[in-house]
Amino acid sequence: MQVKYAMSAIGFDPELVRRYDVAGPRYTSYPTARQFGPAVDEAAYLRAVKRSNEDFIPSPLSLYVHLPFCKSPCFYCGCSRLITSRPERIAAYLRRLHREVHLQGQRFDRDRPVRQLHLGGGTPTYLTDEQLIALFNTLREVFTLEERALREFSIEADPRGLTVARLQTLAEIGFNRISYGFQDFDPQVQEAINRVQDPQHCLELITAARRAGFCSVSADLIYGLPRQTEAGFTATLGAVAEARPDRVAVYGYAHLPQYFKAQQHIHSTELPNADLRLHLLQCAVEVLTGHGYEYLGMDHFALPDDDLVQARIHGTLQRNFQGYSTHAGLDLVGFGMTAISHVSDVYAQNAKTLDCYYAPLDAGNLPIERGYFMTADDCARADVIGRLMCYEELPFDVIERRHNLVFREYFARELVALQPLEADKLVRVEADRLLVLPRGRFLRRALAMVFDAYLPREKAASTYSRVV
Ligand code: SF4
Repeated sequence: MQVKYAMSAIGFDPELVRRYDVAGPRYTSYPTARQFGPAVDEAAYLRAVKRSNEDFIPSPLSLYVHLPFCKSPCFYCGCSRLITSRPERIAAYLRRLHREVHLQGQRFDRDRPVRQLHLGGGTPTYLTDEQLIALFNTLREVFTLEERALREFSIEADPRGLTVARLQTLAEIGFNRISYGFQDFDPQVQEAINRVQDPQHCLELITAARRAGFCSVSADLIYGLPRQTEAGFTATLGAVAEARPDRVAVYGYAHLPQYFKAQQHIHSTELPNADLRLHLLQCAVEVLTGHGYEYLGMDHFALPDDDLVQARIHGTLQRNFQGYSTHAGLDLVGFGMTAISHVSDVYAQNAKTLDCYYAPLDAGNLPIERGYFMTADDCARADVIGRLMCYEELPFDVIERRHNLVFREYFARELVALQPLEADKLVRVEADRLLVLPRGRFLRRALAMVFDAYLPREKAASTYSRVV
């Protein structure tokens, strides 16, 4: 009974989900990185940094540090990562990373506190304690880190080999949030994806993180993996939900072996078919909401007292490159190869290979390779899309005031394009606002795509993952 109620509150309708299962962006940014080009270079980025310092009230900062190294390849992986067992390779990268932190840090005013910090990868916990401490010290040297009670400092952790003592060290360094990649506990699946980890150990790490002082623990799962079964995935979901991590993300595996070499190890014959994939997703919704998790949007679930749920209540929820985030309006500063910064109205992305990342830094320059200058139209659409991804209501006057436009005129074409979605009861367009209905909550990406000015021009939609 409880499960049924939760399902209807989310509006998960398998038939509808199947119908809207098209490839599309995940909208962790708008425009997406596909629009990035060579127009943004170091000089353009530094001008944006200067502008942001000169704002009437400069925003606090959110830092992202990309640590690309992993011990072994997970076959489903689509991340920017490098497999190595050579410590000198990691040390060489860290030397450049420290240099980049210094170069960027001296450009931001010291009165702009770092409210968020996220170490992603790759496997950040592949670094030694000493390397993580040194990195943290360098960040502290050049940026003003927010005091403990106000900061959200997170690290992605690989459960394999992670110990209670290590968790305590991470907490002492200054991290207060952690996310674990669990994916699926079914041994058949773990073997097929080359990521074997002990379920019991994984679950114990949730409690151990809390004891070590982490105030937020997230678990990442993946559906659509090879050899996955409804029974196996349901067991994983149940075990994870019982362990009560604050957040659970359930990502859909996107099989794109033409882009990600490791995925060539996955036999397409072992992948769940479309029906099973949908069932797996349905299981995730049923089990997690049945255990009291709230559905936030896209692939994210959280306990009712989690910061993300609270941020949605207080209107500060937003999308960024890490998914959902509690703070709106922070300038995002990225470090490391492939990292993306978003400062003022400029996106800037670092070089994607080690050589191209190292060479500019060795010459004393930032390794920015490409980016994007947001136009007024981009800003308005980003605002609309961001709101649709996070909330159930889009008041037209909010967009009109912020972007000096008349919503119904400016988005006249989009409102017409929404009519079939309105007929399917995904949305309701009222005189002064757009409402995301329960049936549309699970299909936010399809709603957002209506307002994406670039999609119609992009032919290669198949390189995006599917909505489901
Ligand atoms: S999934 Fe994570 S740990 Fe596995 S190869 Fe990719 S980045 Fe490394």
